Amino acid sequence: MLASLPVTTLADLPLLASGKVREMYDLGETLLMVASDRISTYDVVHPTPIPDKGKVLTGISVMWFDLASEIVPNHLISYTDGVPEEARGRALVVRKLDMLPVECVVRGYLSGSGWKDYQQTGAVCGIELPGGLLESDRLPEPIFTPATKADVGHDENIDFEGAVELIGDRGLAERLREVSIALYQRAAEHALSRGIILADTKFEFGLDQAGTLVVGDEVCTPDSSRFWPADSYAPGRSQPSFDKQFVRDWASSTGWDRRPPAPAIPAGVVERTHQKYIEAYELMAGEPFAEWLRRAES
Ligand code: ATP
Ligand code: MG
Repeated sequence: MLASLPVTTLADLPLLASGKVREMYDLGETLLMVASDRISTYDVVHPTPIPDKGKVLTGISVMWFDLASEIVPNHLISYTDGVPEEARGRALVVRKLDMLPVECVVRGYLSGSGWKDYQQTGAVCGIELPGGLLESDRLPEPIFTPATKADVGHDENIDFEGAVELIGDRGLAERLREVSIALYQRAAEHALSRGIILADTKFEFGLDQAGTLVVGDEVCTPDSSRFWPADSYAPGRSQPSFDKQFVRDWASSTGWDRRPPAPAIPAGVVERTHQKYIEAYELMAGEPFAEWLRRAES
């Protein structure tokens, strides 16, 4: 009986968890994953929201779930039924999974903590790479570079054996690696055909009640990935981020020390960033953003 009660507002639902950007609500058998318009730079959330950001990220995630469904099942049940009116377009009803304790990062290019590790050790997460690579260089092939899921602070890179240990099942860890790389390749190929480099991305997987491996969380969104414009790509330096560059450039011009609290973002920067997110959706999905809203809000 309870399960069939119409859901009216988010405030009525039990809040399970609140991250920097998303809220998770308990729907009983299922979960409601709601993306906000909050934006963080350097892991600190700014007090100013970016309009439509939650809807853009949700629409992009749904697009990838669809594209990747031949590779692995995903947790998406619905973006209409069971979604409260106020959250339409930025919320998904998903299957409750038993999440595996590893962040499944795949890198096709050398950037961020991968670049840092390579400079220090010549390897990333224990994977030896050729010498002489430059920052942002394309790797000979995509690599699986798992990380721990830190409850507080930054995730920590681990090697494959570390992932096996955390998961407690070598066969399952091998499958995670294989599926993660296949998902990355599928998405990177698609993104590149739209003029965007998917430099790296992070997946989270869980097991359903039958023990089947399912991809959960969000998939290949700007928040879980590095997107670079392909036309300005040049190794040997860091690349401009497709979505957050205006905010980052502005933030560094203010002299903010990257420690909380983050400063409020001026209206002009908000608007340009807003446009950039819409553009990311439209490029990647190959349809007007309004189409996503029409499907999700109908
Ligand atoms: P942040 O991403 O802000 O650093 P966070 O990861 O704690 O922090 P969210 O990403 O908003 O915050 O939280 C989502 C949580 O829900 C993650 O712990 C994720 O592993 C978990 N999750 C995602 N999909 C499912 C699912 N289908 N079933 C159960 N848990 C899920
Ligand atoms: Mg998260």
